[in-house]
Amino acid sequence: MSSINRSRRRLFSRKKSDAVHLPWVKKDIEFTDECTRCNKCVQACETNIIIKGDGGFPEVDFNIDECTFCQQCVDACPEPLFTATTEAPWTVTAAIRDNCMAYQGIWCQSCKDACDESAISFTMAIGKAPQPHIDVDACTGCGACVSPCPSNAILINL
Ligand code: SF4
Ligand code: SF4
Ligand code: SF4
Repeated sequence: MSSINRSRRRLFSRKKSDAVHLPWVKKDIEFTDECTRCNKCVQACETNIIIKGDGGFPEVDFNIDECTFCQQCVDACPEPLFTATTEAPWTVTAAIRDNCMAYQGIWCQSCKDACDESAISFTMAIGKAPQPHIDVDACTGCGACVSPCPSNAILINL
């Protein structure tokens, strides 16, 4: 993705409510107790999806771009906030909201085209636009489908 496109998305597409926690964060800690808000993860993220969220604590915003699971946020963090990266990064998965254009009869498959995991399929239906379905077992929660969706219909479930 070009930096120009990324900047345009940052300007026009960011919606704070879609932000989620960082990958590989330990489940048994209070993140805000351990994180010093040093911003090293923000600076390290190769897709610039880590933003300063509520209270200045880092969170992921898929309206900017996807998580490539590069682990650079984990490597950059000086605090004991993360699990071993041999474990699954998180349990988040994508879901499609009612405002999906395909549900309104409009032909759109932008999310499918963005998904490298082939987790999004479309079912042909007589008299209707093809209907999307997400295979949550195949979905890695990478968020690549979020920003290409023209109606902001992809929700990343925690
Ligand atoms: S794993 Fe990489 S792309 Fe994902 S949030 Fe961390 S630094 Fe960013
Ligand atoms: S990109 Fe968005 S609007 Fe288009 S089919 Fe996928 S979820 Fe629906
Ligand atoms: S979050 Fe990633 S793996 Fe899951 S459906 Fe979207 S693009 Fe595919």
